[in-house]
Amino acid sequence: MDNYISTHEATIRLGVFFGIFALMAMWELLAPRRVLTQPKSARWLNNIGLVVLNIVVVRLIFPTAAVGVAAYAGERQWGLFNQLDTPGWLAIVATVILLDGVIYLQHVMFHAVPAFWRLHRVHHADLDFDVTTGSRFHPLEILLSMLIKFAAIVLLGPPLVAVILFEVLLNATSMFNHSNVRLPLGLDRIIRLLIVTPDMHRVHHSHLAYETNSNFGFNLSIWDRLLGTYRAQPEDGHTGMTIGIDTFRDSAQCIPLPRLLMMPFTGVVTDYAINSRRREPPDES
Ligand SMILES: [Zn+2]
Ligand SMILES: [Zn+2]
Repeated sequence: MDNYISTHEATIRLGVFFGIFALMAMWELLAPRRVLTQPKSARWLNNIGLVVLNIVVVRLIFPTAAVGVAAYAGERQWGLFNQLDTPGWLAIVATVILLDGVIYLQHVMFHAVPAFWRLHRVHHADLDFDVTTGSRFHPLEILLSMLIKFAAIVLLGPPLVAVILFEVLLNATSMFNHSNVRLPLGLDRIIRLLIVTPDMHRVHHSHLAYETNSNFGFNLSIWDRLLGTYRAQPEDGHTGMTIGIDTFRDSAQCIPLPRLLMMPFTGVVTDYAINSRRREPPDES
């Protein structure tokens, strides 16, 4: 099993990626939630161009990926689950939940720290919200998040199957919860008890800073509820809200791939990041 996962890691992940992508893209055509504000062909060409670039960069720099790190830790008996005599199923469930918690905390950090926000705002500067937004990240953010994930894997010492399961789940749920799809509201309420839905994550893509800084979960919705960052709906409604960030509103800045790659190094950090928030001076009277 471990051997199969190690040798077929890329095929499994790409297969699931294309399958879920095609499914969500079709669903968006049949039952869209919002009317897109930008030409879809231009956004998709550049967003998908960024995805392809990221796949190449990650494969070049980290050819063995997260599964390789888990195998390495396993051979040396590093990490919690390699040290404890945990039943396999428990180690798998715990790994998926704990890695999801790490990704949640990492996401909060990418919003709070000004230099990291410069990277992460490439994701947020998309002027529309659809399945391609789910994979639109600056290569430096991808590389940093890989390193954080590798560190978590070394500490956890998880089974290989748990790591590939987590990667596939994260990728699939990210495409699902960024999709411009209409779900019946009753169904949305049930699903979001456990999993982040498109309506829940769309709040996070509002241009209003207090909405952007909520709903950080990518997969499980429990972290936002437990840790106090949950916001149920956008103030202006799902069809009336403005998607994106106030720093970059011009489509000439927010769509072309070269501009996305340069985005972290241009513009100022506004009050989305933690220490850039302006407060009214205290009232002296
Ligand atoms: Zn974010
Ligand atoms: Zn997002």
